[in-house]
Amino acid sequence: MRRLIGIVIFLFLIIVALYADERIPVDDRNFQEYKGRVGIWVLVISPANLSYYVSKFCITKKDVEDVNGRIRYREYLFIPYSEKYIKELEAQGIKKETVLTRKSDFIWPLAQVKNISSSFGQRGARFHTGTDMPATQGTPIVAAMDGRVLSTRYEGGFGWTICMEHRDNFFTRYAHCFKILVKEGDCIKKGQVIGLVGTTGTSTGNHLHFEIRYNDIPLNPLDFLPYKENLVNLHAVRNWK
Ligand SMILES: [Zn+2]
Repeated sequence: MRRLIGIVIFLFLIIVALYADERIPVDDRNFQEYKGRVGIWVLVISPANLSYYVSKFCITKKDVEDVNGRIRYREYLFIPYSEKYIKELEAQGIKKETVLTRKSDFIWPLAQVKNISSSFGQRGARFHTGTDMPATQGTPIVAAMDGRVLSTRYEGGFGWTICMEHRDNFFTRYAHCFKILVKEGDCIKKGQVIGLVGTTGTSTGNHLHFEIRYNDIPLNPLDFLPYKENLVNLHAVRNWK
């Protein structure tokens, strides 16, 4: 009897863990995390440009080198914030975005999505296996679900692409990246930055091509992502729980 009660309590805790809402931090335009530091990925084009960020964020050039290694220009570098700068941002009411989510639910792979440039489904003679979300170059792409990085490589028309595997044979793909920030085998939390938006591969402008697959079958991401008011016309009926 005692053992049965133990099993019931255990199952109850699993259900609570899967279905309880939790507020999780999401990497956005202002706050990103990399190697345990808070900061931002920026395209640094010259030493003068680097000096500007070093003074703006109240850090030293060595702080930048510690995170990025040898500094190369015309590349995205992670510029860590000083405690002082974080406090300044907080004083202005700027803090990291958070999103209310259940452990079992996907979140949007970009902190802000205003429109969809191409939906999932037939596109002329070809089938579009994902949802295209326009964004400016360098916008952080976040993991839509806890999981493990399966591959990071150049995939022809998809350009620089990140593939992740998740629980229950779910899989996500993030294509046309400008820069990939994770490597194969990394375990990633939902909301964590994994790459930066670009237009690599066959692409007409900066955007994220985002896919959700189940047992390798591409599904409409909008059926899984939280409802967004401004995308109402493109939403299919959300019947997945
Ligand atoms: Zn696409």
